[in-house]
Amino acid sequence: MFIPEEKISEILHAADIVDIVSESVILKKSGQNYFGLCPFHSEKTPSFSVNPGKQIFHCFGCGAGGNSLSFVMKYHGLAFPEAAKMLARKYNITVDTRHLDPAVKKHQDLKETLFRINRKVMAHYHQHLHKDPAGQAARQYLDHRHITPAVMEEFHLGFALDQWDDVVGFLKKARVSRKAAENSGLVLPRKTGSGFYDRFRNRIMFPIFDINMQVAGFGGRVMDDAMPKYMNSPETPVYSKTRILYGLHAAKTHCRTTGIVHIVEGYFDFLTLYQHGITNTVATLGTALTPEHVRILKGYAPAMILVFDSDAAGIAAAKRSIKTFVNEGVETRILILPKGEDPDTFVMKNGAAAFQKLAETARSVMAFLREVAIEAHGMSVSGRAKVLADMVPYLGDIHDSALRSLHVRDLAETLGIDETAVLEKVKQQVVQGRHPRDTVSDTHPADPERSSDPRERQLLSLMLHSPDIIGQVRDSGVLDHFYSERLCRIGRIMVQADPDPDFFVTRVMGGMASDEDRELVAALAMSGGVDDNDSLPAAAAAVIQRIIRIRRKNDSRLTAKIKQAEKSCDTDLMELLRLKQQELRQIYNGQ
Ligand SMILES: [Zn+2]
Repeated sequence: MFIPEEKISEILHAADIVDIVSESVILKKSGQNYFGLCPFHSEKTPSFSVNPGKQIFHCFGCGAGGNSLSFVMKYHGLAFPEAAKMLARKYNITVDTRHLDPAVKKHQDLKETLFRINRKVMAHYHQHLHKDPAGQAARQYLDHRHITPAVMEEFHLGFALDQWDDVVGFLKKARVSRKAAENSGLVLPRKTGSGFYDRFRNRIMFPIFDINMQVAGFGGRVMDDAMPKYMNSPETPVYSKTRILYGLHAAKTHCRTTGIVHIVEGYFDFLTLYQHGITNTVATLGTALTPEHVRILKGYAPAMILVFDSDAAGIAAAKRSIKTFVNEGVETRILILPKGEDPDTFVMKNGAAAFQKLAETARSVMAFLREVAIEAHGMSVSGRAKVLADMVPYLGDIHDSALRSLHVRDLAETLGIDETAVLEKVKQQVVQGRHPRDTVSDTHPADPERSSDPRERQLLSLMLHSPDIIGQVRDSGVLDHFYSERLCRIGRIMVQADPDPDFFVTRVMGGMASDEDRELVAALAMSGGVDDNDSLPAAAAAVIQRIIRIRRKNDSRLTAKIKQAEKSCDTDLMELLRLKQQELRQIYNGQ
């Protein structure tokens, strides 16, 4: 561990797990725990739980689990020291990074440098927009698009000069290294091999913030018909287009309060809706929405409305979105604006209330696709057959069989076709190999520990619930009698840990060598337990005794049988040796 133990403990004390998780997952309290939809696997019913007492999270669906640090690592895809630093920054704890692993430190330094460069360049672009005579055209353009000065300020809009070396010169003057400059994606190496040139030229600049308000990258839009109309930063160590959504940093709380998020395509669509008070909006950055986007958004709003300016765009997106949205268990509706309008022009002309009213008419993805098909083919006998043929692939794309059968019934009713006939067609489609597994979201991963003696798990659970019994466990020597080497290993770490009940579970997690072990600890801490603490020592003693007795009995039975077989010198011996071998292998594998 590179960050001192005390620092980690300080961070864990400051970072409340419920606070940390609820930044990205909608949590509801139920008993002692909080529950929400797991951000790490697809699900429709919450099996992701957070225990504020033990300061841990655990998903009963996919097995993910850990403390607030492991949550930040897993959710933001960070390495341990980065996650620790991120939390430390949040809670104003200073962390000395001199002792970091050189490779980790290098990567972390690079990321910090890139955020710093981006922020400086953001200010530089901003300056051009407001102070530079060359920014005049851009100012007029924004004015013409009715973007208010307040929104320009809030989103730090800027302007990239029509020059090849403006940012190149700016970075040089700011003493940014060539490597960092190139890594930022703001400049590109010249084909001649010497020097760099500006990526963004003569464009309105939109800084792209991540959820922590850091400038991750930029989008640039031309002011005329030049191509490409939009250009974004390339993937960098701080900018990942599959994770970042424009405006989410500003929209997140509004998404929380309304339970709805509008998803639009362009920067101007976003800004116009935002300045008209439709602040629960995000924009995709010219890329299709990814499952990662959807999982992130799901943490802020359970319902999503995709806003499009034409049927064609809507259809394409609806088709794509079935796999992402429907299977992520998100209520998704499609809103097609009147012909010739985009969100920007529609709101400018008709106002926010008209937009909200229109949004209420947004149809579910399936209803939308069905209506499009009916419009195309009509409701004659042959038309309905074609509608059915169009719809079958979409239905086949729904993994959850219960949900699929609801949509099948809907379609059968609309078309006046027998439900079983529709179902038959869909089943053929599914069997044709589009879905190797049905109801992916509802399958639980195999639990490798389940085959071992359940009492071993039970005992570890009891220890996690109440470290008071640790002395009892240690003195009994019961861990030596565990069948599962893995549980034994975890048990030993618990026995060696400081038994102070405050943060005991997170401390034990810190001692785990792998994510799998950490997740197992979270699972054990969330399961079992006893209702009243007085009976705990007695309960623990009973479990300990039972584990030892069973192990001894099995061992002596096996030894006796082997002796017997040796005497009779027959194939029984072979069989027994095989069994013994198997058992040893099982122990070795930690099962
Ligand atoms: Zn999960």
